[in-house]
Amino acid sequence: MMLKKSPDAALPAMAFAVSRLDRMANARSDDAWIAALRAETRARCVLFDGDKAALSAAGGLALAASVPGDALFLGIDDDGQAWFAAQGPHEGAKSDLRSLAVSGALPAAQLGLLAQARSLLHWHERHRYCAHCGAATHAKDAGYKRVCPSCRAEHFPRTDPVVIIAVRRSNSLLLGRQASWPAGMYSTLAGFMEPGETIEDAARREVKEESGIEVGAIGIAANQPWPFPSSLMIGLIGEALTERITIDTKEIEDARWFSFADIEAMRRGVHGDGFKIPPAMAIAHRLILRALQES
Ligand SMILES: [Zn+2]
Repeated sequence: MMLKKSPDAALPAMAFAVSRLDRMANARSDDAWIAALRAETRARCVLFDGDKAALSAAGGLALAASVPGDALFLGIDDDGQAWFAAQGPHEGAKSDLRSLAVSGALPAAQLGLLAQARSLLHWHERHRYCAHCGAATHAKDAGYKRVCPSCRAEHFPRTDPVVIIAVRRSNSLLLGRQASWPAGMYSTLAGFMEPGETIEDAARREVKEESGIEVGAIGIAANQPWPFPSSLMIGLIGEALTERITIDTKEIEDARWFSFADIEAMRRGVHGDGFKIPPAMAIAHRLILRALQES
């Protein structure tokens, strides 16, 4: 069979979308096996101080001297090394994950590993009690679930799907901005999915709510973990059925149609009005470029 070259081959890498770890889902419930991995001298443990990853003086990952007993298991890398994650105070350099992604200071696979760690650590901090009966829960399966000793309910780390969509009409794209964003930044519209909704319907609803635009055909184009604390961005490209924009100012500050020529200037940072699109590490950047390429 001929393999078609991926249309994404020429596009920049998205942050947090690369992982080299085998999460060992069939083995990690074995407490003795996990304990043996923890005790291995070559086991690695990344550290988080609150929301920030601990860094070495040289700007690389700062690793724990030994793996704490409550560290969460992340997986095993290509060299057979086990990786864990733990929370604790760190005196040295540290950074939030978005800044690390924008700076490009760490290899892609390390960013993916940190994203997994950050989301899992956050979930344990915020889910210490049973949502069903209120009793204190404890971690199981090396950190991939919590169980309630009182009602026996099992709780699993959550992932919240977010739809994010580049809406196209002839040779233009619909982009919007929130007031809190950097000046001049415009991006694809996005919003959380609601229960009982398809991905496509969630995207149509969000675009209609925020901009008044009706969307017809929709295709899924890309996805990106954004685990701060628990989002998964589901990237779509859709075709607009209408043109007239009505902005919901509770959700966004502005939305407008940008011509492909405008967007190319925004991408290159040379737009006459100072408008720009999100950085290459973001799924919005990829969706915008793909929507242009496929036109
Ligand atoms: Zn319970």
